[in-house]
Amino acid sequence: MNKILEDIRTAVPALSQQVYGKPLVYLDNAATSQKPVQVIELVNMMNSGLNGNVHRAMHYLSEQATMLYEQARERVRQHINAPERENIIFTSGATAAINLVASSFCYRFLKNGDSVVIAGDSHHSNIVPWQIACERAGAKLKVVPVDENGRLEIERVDSLVDARTRLVAVTHISNVLGIVNDIGQITEMAHARGAKVLVDGAQGIVHAKVDVQDMDCDFYAFSGHKVYGETGSGVLYGKSDLLNQMPPYMGGGEMVETVTYEKTTYAPLPLKFEAGTPNFIAAASLAPALDFADALVSGEWGRAVKEEEAAILAYLPDALREIEGLTLYGTSGKKIPLFSFSVDGCNSSDIAQMLDKLGIAVRSGQMCSEPLMNRYGVTGMVRASFAPYNTLEEAVYLADSLKRVVKMLR
Ligand code: PLP
Repeated sequence: MNKILEDIRTAVPALSQQVYGKPLVYLDNAATSQKPVQVIELVNMMNSGLNGNVHRAMHYLSEQATMLYEQARERVRQHINAPERENIIFTSGATAAINLVASSFCYRFLKNGDSVVIAGDSHHSNIVPWQIACERAGAKLKVVPVDENGRLEIERVDSLVDARTRLVAVTHISNVLGIVNDIGQITEMAHARGAKVLVDGAQGIVHAKVDVQDMDCDFYAFSGHKVYGETGSGVLYGKSDLLNQMPPYMGGGEMVETVTYEKTTYAPLPLKFEAGTPNFIAAASLAPALDFADALVSGEWGRAVKEEEAAILAYLPDALREIEGLTLYGTSGKKIPLFSFSVDGCNSSDIAQMLDKLGIAVRSGQMCSEPLMNRYGVTGMVRASFAPYNTLEEAVYLADSLKRVVKMLR
């Protein structure tokens, strides 16, 4: 293995473990990533020393924890090029961020007879909240279809979005197909009709450069745990004018200015949307997590990762297709190293279980995208999702192991 990749892997302790006596080959990164040392150390340091509730007390521990929490907000702002810190709302994850918008934005702006347009490659987190909001408002939910090769039919946005469309909710990168959607183009089309745009960036934040001002999206949602941060952290980016017009999502401590029994006034952004004690340790972990994400695309680490990813993308699709009856999904356009497939005559969960015994962690089943499974007429798929710390060697081991597993299952 390349010495630089070895260094990268050493920085992520979970990767060097064995499962069932075999070296772990972790290929379920789209579900959650493994954490680098600096994230683990920050979380341990806060839990063991700097555990004080944020924004509340005058004592040292609270001040230090608040400082780390707010530094992480600034780090996120910088990472996605948001104009101000107030545009960054900490949530518990992408799901919570999308639900915040579906609840608060839709309460304010979505009325009877309006519509919301979503992408056909969406995760359930970007389907169900809009369904609930549309049902409440008496609005219509419309879907941009996905073609046979997994391409989102962006040209259909023009006919689906009309003057009554309040919001278009799209996936930056699909968790099933691994295709990078052209967010700039979608945003332009939606804005031309007066609709706002939310981007589900749960996978995008990991594999793409995110510049929310360049994309001109109105909202961008992601989870911390997929981008090397602690579980229980997430971010909603929103444009200030919209966030200011939206009512609070939850009421409680620290989101208020003054409270009387007659009337409450709310704290300014971003705290208006952060009621109650946030998961401040997880949120603080986003600073070292994003430092790690940046290191993976910079300097000699960046060059080594890019080369290895290119080699995996060049090798694995053909190696998988050598297996008779295997169908690979999401084959068109710009791809990240994420490979979803089904194999005739084999159940996806059986494949995943047998790979697990060989030390390989993959995802199987509907992958929280049941409508997409229906689109391709399957009940489930197997997904191998690579992170920058994965290697070509692991891809070769996956292909060889899969051949053995399929032979045993038939
Ligand atoms: N959106 C996409 C594209 C995802 O891949 C996921 C998780 O897999 C989510 C949303 C939901 O993320 P979370 O469960 O961290 O809120």
